[in-house]
Amino acid sequence: MHDTETGHPADLMDKLVSLCKRRGFIFQSSEIYGGLGSVYDYGPLGAELKNNIRDDWWSAMVHRHEDIEGIESGILMHPEVWVASGHVGGFTDPLTECRNCHRRFRADELEEVAAGNVAAQQCPVCGTTGEFTEPRQFNLMFKTFMGPVEEDAAIVYLRPETAQGSYVNFRNVADSARQKIPFGVAQIGKAFRNEITPGNFIFRTREFEQMEMQFFVKPGTDEEWFEVWRERRMAWVRSLGIRSERLRLHPHGPDELAHYAKRAEDIQYLFPFGWQEFEGIHNRTDFDLTRHQERAGKKLEYFEQATNERYVPYVVETAVGLNRALLVVLADAYDEEEVESETRVVLRLAPHLAPVKAAVFPLVKKDGMPEIAEKLAADLRGRLNVFYDASGSIGRRYRRQDEAGTPFCVTIDGQTVEDDSVTVRDRDTLEQVRVPLDGVLAFVQDAVSAARRDG
Ligand code: ATP
Repeated sequence: MHDTETGHPADLMDKLVSLCKRRGFIFQSSEIYGGLGSVYDYGPLGAELKNNIRDDWWSAMVHRHEDIEGIESGILMHPEVWVASGHVGGFTDPLTECRNCHRRFRADELEEVAAGNVAAQQCPVCGTTGEFTEPRQFNLMFKTFMGPVEEDAAIVYLRPETAQGSYVNFRNVADSARQKIPFGVAQIGKAFRNEITPGNFIFRTREFEQMEMQFFVKPGTDEEWFEVWRERRMAWVRSLGIRSERLRLHPHGPDELAHYAKRAEDIQYLFPFGWQEFEGIHNRTDFDLTRHQERAGKKLEYFEQATNERYVPYVVETAVGLNRALLVVLADAYDEEEVESETRVVLRLAPHLAPVKAAVFPLVKKDGMPEIAEKLAADLRGRLNVFYDASGSIGRRYRRQDEAGTPFCVTIDGQTVEDDSVTVRDRDTLEQVRVPLDGVLAFVQDAVSAARRDG
């Protein structure tokens, strides 16, 4: 059964949450203590999948572009950074609380409250009407203290975005890497937002990871670069294997634009819960660099030798959440089909993203098969992430790997002992082909690199 609007299997989010726990992709944080709201831990397969998406982004952005440098700035930064960026004053969401059940909501997500009719709003949780408080602005930054004395002077923030770390290092990178404008600074790292209404599993969480790139350009060329980056980012999203009918661009109207942006477009994905932002492409103008220049009293200009001009560059930013990308990849890959009157659950992950590239099985635990299989797994390990499994029926072992998204299962059987060939089963087509034992590595590697299209 499929949801007719989104084309996803019915109840996909529930099924994903349970598959992620069962197979070791994602666990709730501190589960044995009852969990910590909206924070998640990544298990063996989840950590692998996350690393693969992260590495693919890094390679697509940093390694494949001569004009992009990768950096890693600290989560904690000088508190003045967040004053200059506007986050201390304005990184807020309107908060309202039901006085009856004390649940808190974003005021812009409740129809009547958003329209200014607070008294007419019914609480979606307890059903009481007219008990909402007037909305007040709630800052989403997490605060903590640096040093042993809890006093105002020592307040620092957990960064709500990685972008500022790239802005304050603009000169350092330009000078040390000898980059000329246009060039970009990319980074991947944790960000924290005290979201009022986190939810939809890992879609919106309070701790998450961003993959952001700030492209510094000459003012006047920013519109052109915006188009270039929007197309390049869309190409990368497609290269993850995401179905194109579940992708669209959403340009921000004037009321949606962030305070720093001249123009913004979201790449949206059709989640089981509707169209939502996956990645944002923003024209941030010279807003951030100018603010830091003023507040820090340090020049953040660029001197263009060819024209003898000095200017503060404009920035085209591409910003995507790593965890959200992982959710998109999982939601798009999840499939159910009837095979021999049983439901087969399969994650059709692009082979270059799959946590395990190949599983190696001896058909039975005798006749020399385990020895050959163990040796093959040992030979492959280090070149590929492989999984060795000798327990249970072959059908069960296949199904476990289908749920893990493993593209190939390699089985050592009676014929292997005779002619050094193995069976390779394709996760998607279920076809089985015979491959020479010493050709397995090349076979799997070829399939993995064929899937890694240019992003
Ligand atoms: P929203 O308006 O939905 O709160 P945003 O537009 O402020 O999000 P950005 O600041 O542009 O988001 O962040 C860039 C990317 O980081 C988003 O496209 C998304 O993929 C990811 N992201 C933002 N907030 C969260 C969160 N709370 N949990 C997980 N990922 C997030």
